[in-house]
Amino acid sequence: MPAPGRDRFAPGDAPSVAVVGGGIAGLAAATGLAERGARVTLYEREDSLGGRLAGYRTRLADGSEVTMSRGFHAFFRQYYNLRGLLRRTDPALARLTPLPDYPLRHSGGLTDSFARVPRTPPLSALGFVALSPTFRWRDLTALDARAALPLTDVRVPEVYTRFDEISATAFLERVRFPEAAHHLAFEVFSRSFFADPRELSAAELMLMFHIYFLGSSEGLLFDVPDEPFPQALWEPLADYLRRLGTTVRTGTPVHGVDPAGTGGAEVRTGTGTDRHDAVVLALDTGGLRRVVAASPGLGTTPWRDGIAALRTAPPFLVSRLWLDRPVRAHRPGFLGTSGYDGLDNISVLERYEGEAARWAAKHGGSVVELHAYAVTPGADSGAVQDALLGQLRRVYPETGRARVVDARHEWRSDCPLFPVGAHHRRPTVRTPHPWLTLAGDGLRCDLPVALMERAATTGFLASNALLAGWGVRGQVLWTVPRAGRSPVLRALGVLADRPARR
Ligand SMILES: Cc1cc2nc3c(=O)[nH]c(=O)nc-3n(C[C@H](O)[C@H](O)[C@H](O)COP(=O)(O)OP(=O)(O)OC[C@H]3O[C@@H](n4cnc5c(N)ncnc54)[C@H](O)[C@@H]3O)c2cc1C
Repeated sequence: MPAPGRDRFAPGDAPSVAVVGGGIAGLAAATGLAERGARVTLYEREDSLGGRLAGYRTRLADGSEVTMSRGFHAFFRQYYNLRGLLRRTDPALARLTPLPDYPLRHSGGLTDSFARVPRTPPLSALGFVALSPTFRWRDLTALDARAALPLTDVRVPEVYTRFDEISATAFLERVRFPEAAHHLAFEVFSRSFFADPRELSAAELMLMFHIYFLGSSEGLLFDVPDEPFPQALWEPLADYLRRLGTTVRTGTPVHGVDPAGTGGAEVRTGTGTDRHDAVVLALDTGGLRRVVAASPGLGTTPWRDGIAALRTAPPFLVSRLWLDRPVRAHRPGFLGTSGYDGLDNISVLERYEGEAARWAAKHGGSVVELHAYAVTPGADSGAVQDALLGQLRRVYPETGRARVVDARHEWRSDCPLFPVGAHHRRPTVRTPHPWLTLAGDGLRCDLPVALMERAATTGFLASNALLAGWGVRGQVLWTVPRAGRSPVLRALGVLADRPARR
């Protein structure tokens, strides 16, 4: 809950705040501050806003002008704070469109679906097991029930105390989770952290299980923007911020932040230095490491060491292909894949995105996107791209006859890694300086949020913390419950805990 206070700054009394980073976290922080009347300057290194959901215009070999983006994102219904941010410019969320299912296909031939799974916990988890062809009831008898029980009562932040010291893989082995079902309930989540489950903290995986299965009723269904990210989301939000008086400076990397003797800081850019009363660093892991390393006056030694120790997940590839003939009519908008030699998912953009649908209709083709996460560092990029195309042809054989009209490949490694045992060292929204806050999906946040929703939530928390210091009310935040929703399962979880503590 935000602290009580004034509704907004009085005229003439508004502080100047630098928000550095124009991804979801920075946009949320800027929104929270600008709505209360603060004078916000938003600095973004790239030419467009959105961070890992940014997009840019590009011309294809056939002459078409299209938008390439950083890749498919699922906007889950539990993303209350992100949705709140988007509602600023789209109150009914009409620019989000639902995808009817989240099918998952394993190379062994089985396909799972979440569309018919009940959404009320604990039926969500049980229904998933009952409906899944991959997960057989007899597998349940092999489960180590005592080891699995903590899943029924995931509490935040306590889950980190108990499970941050083991890997996601070690936890699955301890539970004796059936091998064939790994990719379904767990690997899907660990790959959404862009990490090898042998390196990923079990606590993060359990948090995901809580958010989607036992902590909420929205299940694993999601929406996607109906036009490319810039048009659907960020350009309207940037206009909204400008109307609130925000200065949006894209193409402006911040090189350093130097505390000013009288409070606040000097923000260094390529064109000079700007004085601000407060600063929000809403950067990706590498960006935060670099800015803090170049700002020797910031923080304390343990805080700086914690930031220097942050790691990024391995590189990942987003390939988008414009094909000269369509995929078969029943192919879904999004398909999670497992066991296909590095291919993690396939999306067919014309199923949900207006721009792709217009291109596909005009050219009689398809716009297909392929993702590969946690690629071996140093792998030959051309070979990985070719291998993904080969896997697409395996999963959707009709693409074997299609000519690739043009392709765009985005190779990046800017997702945070959540390695075993690192949680306690991660930086939080608050910093050693009252005028400096952090935001972003790599932060420690004692709320059940992850990925885009962690970015949005920490962005608002960062603005709330600054506003509280000025006696101005912040933004009310929502999350799924911080403990499991089913009292029966919670009680079982507690029982499981007791003997272990003796
Ligand atoms: C391919 C892909 C698919 C994904 N799918 C999903 C999904 O389905 N669901 C989900 O919830 N999440 C998903 N994610 C994760 C999601 O993208 C992130 O959690 C979220 O976008 C993080 O937002 P952020 O604002 O914390 O960081 P970012 O978006 O990384 O923003 C940081 C910004 O800081 C800027 N910056 C860096 N250094 C400087 C500097 N010195 N000066 C100024 N600016 C700087 C960067 O350019 C960037 O714009 C996916 C990520 C990827 C890459």
